[in-house]
Amino acid sequence: MSEKNENGLRRQDEEAQLECGEPGRDEAARVERAMEAARRQEAAEHQPEEEKLRIGVYICRCGGNISDVVDVERVAETVRLIPGVATAKVHTFVCSDPGQQTISNDILEENLDRVVVASCSPFLHEQTFRGAVARGGMNPYLYEHVNIREQASWAHKHDPAGATDKAIRMIAAAVGKLHHAAPLEQIKLPNHRRALVIGGGIAGMKAAADLAGRGIRVLLVEVSERLGGRLNERGAVYPSERSGDELVADLERRVRRDPNIEVLVSSQVTAVSGFIGNFKVQVQPVRPDAKARVIDTTVGAIVMATGFRPYVPRNGEFLYKNEPCVVTMPEFIQLMRSVKPDARTLTFGKREIRKIAFLHCVGSRQLDGVHEPQPDGKLNTYCSRTCCTTILQQALTVRERFPQIEVFDFYRDIRTYGRGEEAYYTEASKSGVVFFRYNGEEPPRVESAPAGRRARDGAVSITVKDTLTWGEELTLGVDMLVLGTGMTPGPIEDLIGQMKLPTGEDGFLQEVHPKLRPVELSVNGVLLAGTAQGPMNIQETLAAAGAAAVKAAAMFAKDNVELNPYVAAVDLDLCRGEAQCVTQCDYDGALTMVPMEVGGEMVERAQVNAGLCVGCGACVAVCPHRAIDLNGWRLDQYEAMVDGIAADIPGHECAADLVSIH
Ligand SMILES: Cc1cc2nc3c(=O)[nH]c(=O)nc-3n(C[C@H](O)[C@H](O)[C@H](O)COP(=O)(O)OP(=O)(O)OC[C@H]3O[C@@H](n4cnc5c(N)ncnc54)[C@H](O)[C@@H]3O)c2cc1C
Repeated sequence: MSEKNENGLRRQDEEAQLECGEPGRDEAARVERAMEAARRQEAAEHQPEEEKLRIGVYICRCGGNISDVVDVERVAETVRLIPGVATAKVHTFVCSDPGQQTISNDILEENLDRVVVASCSPFLHEQTFRGAVARGGMNPYLYEHVNIREQASWAHKHDPAGATDKAIRMIAAAVGKLHHAAPLEQIKLPNHRRALVIGGGIAGMKAAADLAGRGIRVLLVEVSERLGGRLNERGAVYPSERSGDELVADLERRVRRDPNIEVLVSSQVTAVSGFIGNFKVQVQPVRPDAKARVIDTTVGAIVMATGFRPYVPRNGEFLYKNEPCVVTMPEFIQLMRSVKPDARTLTFGKREIRKIAFLHCVGSRQLDGVHEPQPDGKLNTYCSRTCCTTILQQALTVRERFPQIEVFDFYRDIRTYGRGEEAYYTEASKSGVVFFRYNGEEPPRVESAPAGRRARDGAVSITVKDTLTWGEELTLGVDMLVLGTGMTPGPIEDLIGQMKLPTGEDGFLQEVHPKLRPVELSVNGVLLAGTAQGPMNIQETLAAAGAAAVKAAAMFAKDNVELNPYVAAVDLDLCRGEAQCVTQCDYDGALTMVPMEVGGEMVERAQVNAGLCVGCGACVAVCPHRAIDLNGWRLDQYEAMVDGIAADIPGHECAADLVSIH
């Protein structure tokens, strides 16, 4: 017999290769291997029926990312000995077309009925390999992904033997799990081909317009009286120097003219329930009046485009609110917008501005022990990304329009990262803006000038240890100080609570993965557009909104929403109707008690709503009757994984540090 035996053990030709020995192997090893083959043959004969599987294991070198640490050849050689494994192969990139083709071909040609791929994170390629498995004609949920890159080779790069053992044990666990796997089908839910966009700033308008352009109906809800968001307050924007109003007007025209878009301003979303494809939402006017109506409607997807809130300094922070001449950047922009085109001087109150200072990083990049925490007890440790270029643009504008004004820039770092933004720094320097650099640990000190000297020296003085002049302490009087205030998360706690949306440490909404799923939230069917996700400039905001629209449109491409089947399932034979699972469930409507007839009697039993269940397993943990379990992650599968990790693998000895696991 040259094929694999019926129990899925290694092919005879491979055994023959081992028995014949490879060049350089000694006689003792040859005998040991021959005995091993005989032992396996005997084990196969006594193998229980349910273990007679044909599992293919594919081990990726990941171009050296894995194989530089893990001995992948040894892994393959060892896992071939695990009952049920029919073949184990090593490939340089299993994710490549030839790698995937090998899997599909082997399923057909070697009659495999389960597949394991040991490679990188499932985030990257689980779907890729499910596709390869499906193309081979196998149920894609009879596939297990093992992450031996992040969890073995990268985690234990200084311990190759341990990493190799760990990879073997992880694969053994996956093989064990597959012994208890059942074919599963994707969950298909009805799809309401209509999207809700919350927030009518540039992100919301762009997302709505792009969705409508693909023929999808959109409900756009804006809480304020007008569309446009923060750009309504802006004037000329960098790097185009085009007016923010024009940009808003262009987008608003697109939105208003599109018959697929319904716009509701001065309105807010007051209730959201349901799930992807089928969200029930309620929208109410902010101020109820005679014409006001409450709208209850259904949408298939929701785009969160609720934007940001500018940082507002505490009273007294750099003398804000104590000295009228200390203003935030948005306040300064309003002042500049109010200046008549032919004005020769810049005045504030009755005072002519002769010296003006800009201070970077106010409310951003805060340091423990240096800055006071926000009311929620946290520091804004992130960079707001748009403040540096805004300051440089404003400093340059002041110099160009009012050359008699002296302009000073107190910065920690200059971060002009976007295309065309560095030019503002260069031009500001050339125009005579004077720069001082401070250390984050020692921000500048701002003090009120004594009454008698305010007219001559300026209303406030700024003292800085200037690292550009080797830490020299300098004090400068100015007529106006502009605080370069950054962005903070918008006030959407109610929506976050209702929709169970995840936020990051910084309080902004958090995407599933910054690179792989950058506009998706972990709540299926809810997408992110613009600065609701974190500080972004206009270009980034529009790109993100466009991506969210594409993602939502792709969801609507099919009549049904298709979801992974990893949700809870109730065994009605075991359920006693005690409802502990329902009490434990955190996801409204995911588990309910429903009346039903069991054995001729009307009783209440737990029922799962597959659209709302996230497969967290909290219900499984509390059921005393084991009447509820997770499809694809059943308790017997976990047990099999633990057994797989701990089982003896013939011919394989653990590295010393793994022996302690046994
Ligand atoms: C001072 C300053 C100057 C800037 N200058 C520039 C520049 O020159 N160039 C540049 O590229 N970028 C600049 N930016 C960045 C730019 O402002 C943002 O990229 C842009 O405004 C982001 O748009 P958005 O739609 O994401 O958010 P926003 O503009 O904040 O719009 C969000 C909208 O959602 C609405 N909303 C919020 N909550 C709800 C709710 N619950 N229900 C309904 N509606 C809601 C809000 O009312 C608002 O209309 C600047 C930022 C700041 C702070």
